[in-house]
Amino acid sequence: MRNLRVQVQILSGTNFMKLSVPISDIPYVGPKTATRFERLGIKTLRDLLFYFPKRYEDYSAITPIAKAKKGEKVCLRAKILTIQTRRTPRKKMFLTEAIIEDDSGALAVIWFNQPFVTKQLKKGCLALFIGSVQLNKKKLVLSSPSYELIAEPEAQPRSQIVSIHGNRIIPIYRETYKITSKFLRLLVWINLRHIEEIEEHLPPEIIKRNGLISLEQALKEIHFPHSFSLLNQAKKRLSFDELFLIRIYLERRRLIRETKERSFNIPFDKNLVQSFVENLSFKLTNDQKKAAWQIIKDLEKPYPMQRLLEGDVGSGKTVVAAIASLSVIHAGYQVAIIAPTEVLARQHFNQLSKDLKKIKNITIALLVSAEARVFKSQRSAKIKKEKLLKDLIQGKINIIIGTHALIQKNVKFKNLAFVVVDEQHRFGVEQRARLLNYELSITNEFKSEVRSRKSEANSTLHPHLLSMSATPIPRTLSLVFYGDLNISQLKEMPKGRKKIDTKIILPKERQEVYRFIRKEVKKGHQTFVICPLIEESEIIETRAAEKEFERLSKKIFPDLRVALLHGRKKSAEKKEIMANFVKKKTDILVSTSVIEVGIDVPNATIMMIEGSERFGLAQLHQLRGRVGRGKHQSYCFLLTEMPTKFVVARLKALVKIEDGFKLAEKDLAIRGPGDFIGRRQSGIPDLIMASLKNIDLINLAKEEATLLLKKDPELINYPLLKAKLQQMASKIHLE
Ligand code: ADP
Ligand code: MG
Repeated sequence: MRNLRVQVQILSGTNFMKLSVPISDIPYVGPKTATRFERLGIKTLRDLLFYFPKRYEDYSAITPIAKAKKGEKVCLRAKILTIQTRRTPRKKMFLTEAIIEDDSGALAVIWFNQPFVTKQLKKGCLALFIGSVQLNKKKLVLSSPSYELIAEPEAQPRSQIVSIHGNRIIPIYRETYKITSKFLRLLVWINLRHIEEIEEHLPPEIIKRNGLISLEQALKEIHFPHSFSLLNQAKKRLSFDELFLIRIYLERRRLIRETKERSFNIPFDKNLVQSFVENLSFKLTNDQKKAAWQIIKDLEKPYPMQRLLEGDVGSGKTVVAAIASLSVIHAGYQVAIIAPTEVLARQHFNQLSKDLKKIKNITIALLVSAEARVFKSQRSAKIKKEKLLKDLIQGKINIIIGTHALIQKNVKFKNLAFVVVDEQHRFGVEQRARLLNYELSITNEFKSEVRSRKSEANSTLHPHLLSMSATPIPRTLSLVFYGDLNISQLKEMPKGRKKIDTKIILPKERQEVYRFIRKEVKKGHQTFVICPLIEESEIIETRAAEKEFERLSKKIFPDLRVALLHGRKKSAEKKEIMANFVKKKTDILVSTSVIEVGIDVPNATIMMIEGSERFGLAQLHQLRGRVGRGKHQSYCFLLTEMPTKFVVARLKALVKIEDGFKLAEKDLAIRGPGDFIGRRQSGIPDLIMASLKNIDLINLAKEEATLLLKKDPELINYPLLKAKLQQMASKIHLE
């Protein structure tokens, strides 16, 4: 520490450093440390300064020794009276013991296994000691404090030296890959003092209008705040930056799509849609009508639609997609529907074959890895994949439904105009991008149609995109992550759905639930048992499910038909297990949390969720939606082995609230955005995560972004902002 301190002073004379210098070129960062930093994603000085503390401890006041109390965390400023390190005889541990003294009194200090302390702190040194006061054999002792040398023995303390580790609000950094918080604190401190001037990328009027502090000040305050009020201002400024950039990025994307990209013009045929709707066996809900209308309007526009259709499981998204598909087919173009699982793809294929069978000359295809099928002239039949792909290019297929198999390179269309992505969050960004950039082999007739739009002779045509999701996304998150999409919501459920009876089950009530399951099985009904979610490892999750399956099938329900389903089973096996369940050949299906979304088993009446405290409310709500699909009263049992007050209060929301959108908002408030954004996005800094709950700040960022783009859509007058934007666009993958 002493060496570093000396070098800090030497460094003061050196030149300013650029933010772009590689981390390995920064003083005190050797090759080994550089590698560790790189694993943390810190590659440059800029990255280091944008690695924000995870929390702060307030050591701004110096406590006189006489006032130090048991259990308190304190910062003392004291001289060393005695200090020595010895080895404990049996444990072979280093024990450093010291007595320190200030004007008010003296105190014992101990360190375990830090023999180097004696090298840095000598008798007579003046230092800060930061740590917690404990009671040891009825005597107060400061245990393993961190410390910072202020003056060598005999030397006069220099008043202008500013302390880093004490006598201030200190930053605590996340410690990983053997990089300690104390080291980070020192490194950031040194570098903050020697960086070049940080250029301000925000337009001055935005800073002024919103009373923001400068970027440079914000960076300094976020690491070494002069006060908590300044810390909050720093947080606000830095969160605003990110939100503002994201909004600009999204709005520009939307602007480009609407002004530069071209799509297929799908005219609205009132009679066609009306007769389809009238022929349905049910009446559309108002939300369904509204969503369908919004889509139909989008399809008439010259640029590609990008719309997200959100609605709980069972809210009837498929029929909305079918209405749109019908219009597209009628206009002479092709439709692709992509689902995350084979089960879902088959379900869509069957459903659409049924819904659209009255439409003349329609051909619907299914493409999954295991097989290809077509539905034509009222019949569904197997077909060779090669044949299907050929038919697709020739335009003989109107709608194709499939899994990932649909995004393979060999799949080409004649004129794909409409893409529906079901359960869109289950697909990666790249996969969806691939669908939108399908190579289209366009007919001559169509080419001339494009040419006739004079100026657009060379523009590529992008298909319209409808994403569907059963995960309601809180408003703040959709503003940040889906800001370039239009959103339709199905909040209203089709009439006649029974309320699912939801109960929290305490450990002592478990047997009662098993008896209840038995009763339902006797009535001919079926049960799902979901095993606890284990985020870190699918393997552990699978093993736990296997164990639970053993227990239930051998001990609890040896006389019933129990089956096991998890994500690691082979596709064919999964299909068979599901098919057996649908055919009522199984009474109880034990499954992990990865159980197929959207499967429709009207005869299942019980959803039993083990370790329910591990799931988000929105996830639980989704699982619950797997039952209650038939005419029977259904039940959702939330089991928990740790019924703390907090857990029970959280689960109670599920008992009371049926609306998935409301539950999602609650989930966000309680658990933060992690569940929604998903594991892949976990690289997002805590600060930004926290700001995703801040609707006011998000709205502010949105308004400012809109205003600026109206004034200067190409950001010609804001080159720094534009550069930042490009940086961000290449770095982040927004869902
Ligand atoms: P999801 O939104 O989960 O994809 P689906 O589209 O699969 O829901 O619809 C669930 C079931 O509800 C289907 O059997 C569908 O035919 C039916 N359904 C859809 N809309 C209505 C409605 N307005 N009234 C009654 N039943 C409907
Ligand atoms: Mg669905």
